[in-house]
Amino acid sequence: MTDYYEILGVPRDASAEQIKKSYRKLARELHPDVAGEAGEERFKDVARAYEVLSNPDKRQQYDMGVDPSSPSGGAGAGFGNGFGFQDIFETFFGGGGAPAGPVPRARRGQDALVRMDIDLAEAAFGAKRELQVDTAVVCSTCSGNGCRPGTDLKTCEVCHGRGNVQRVARSFLGQVMTTAPCAACQGFGTVIPEPCADCSGEGRVRSRRTLTVNVPAGVDTGTRIKLTSQGEVGPGGGPAGDLYVEIREKPHETFVRRGDDLHCTLQVPMTAAALGTVLELETLDGEQEIDLRPGTQPGQVVTLKGLGVGHLHAGGRGDLNVHVEVQVPAGLDEEQTELLRSLATLRGEERPEPRLTAAHPGVFSRLRDKLSGR
Ligand SMILES: [Zn+2]
Ligand SMILES: [Zn+2]
Repeated sequence: MTDYYEILGVPRDASAEQIKKSYRKLARELHPDVAGEAGEERFKDVARAYEVLSNPDKRQQYDMGVDPSSPSGGAGAGFGNGFGFQDIFETFFGGGGAPAGPVPRARRGQDALVRMDIDLAEAAFGAKRELQVDTAVVCSTCSGNGCRPGTDLKTCEVCHGRGNVQRVARSFLGQVMTTAPCAACQGFGTVIPEPCADCSGEGRVRSRRTLTVNVPAGVDTGTRIKLTSQGEVGPGGGPAGDLYVEIREKPHETFVRRGDDLHCTLQVPMTAAALGTVLELETLDGEQEIDLRPGTQPGQVVTLKGLGVGHLHAGGRGDLNVHVEVQVPAGLDEEQTELLRSLATLRGEERPEPRLTAAHPGVFSRLRDKLSGR
């Protein structure tokens, strides 16, 4: 007598759960789609073993020495009866099969992505911007149902509105009932007898429209602004996906942005740096006074608080950092030379002592920036 326990690889006292688990595992491995024809014979053996061992009555019979699935044995139940093909299908198709009812025609549309270039001031303060988008919108002729005006959807005559059809298929397992989407209506359960001429029954058309986008202060390159339900309308006039506007910030000719802080370089004549001065600076907020103290050094940074970029979704703004670049006069005429000589004499700097210090790390980063063209 065939050893069904051995075929399923379970002990004689295996629980029903163990048997089921082992069977499913084997069925998956030996399925003809996976194992090819080579697995077919073993698959049948496994299925037969499971048919017997999964049924308490048959298992008892078998344990007593009678094979209930052999033609001479017991119940005489031929292969294919008695135990659920449902089980096999659950094993292969995850218990689902075809959807139970018709599929709705209207489905959610896809999200859409558009890019938008903004300048630094718009990023700093936020802006209202008009944006042209080209997406699918609901067809106004048919209001999305895809039917020519005056006509309507009709129940599918093939599946009578169920959206699926049942078929009896023959397989090596015997006759199997399968459920498949109805080909006549693509599973919708309804058909469009006369499609709308404007959308060919799609329920949506492409259209260009202008949207107003509220760009919040603090956006940066890569920031995405989500406009709910402004994406592509779905088939059958289904709800629209979302529209994402991806920000790309154009570089500014003066200000470089680091986070929400801005940086710029201010060139100051040596005399002004030495004597101190007040300068008018053109910032994003218009003209601003900047006060250079007497003795301002090259590389010194003057911070104008709160004149940077607004913090995204938070109050406050970053700062504007002004990096002072002191310009040493060149091409002096005689009089200027004399004046500077006198100054040098007064300061005892005619023959300055060489004073070496360790190079400031800033020197290297500035050099690197120059080399990399930043
Ligand atoms: Zn239409
Ligand atoms: Zn149908």
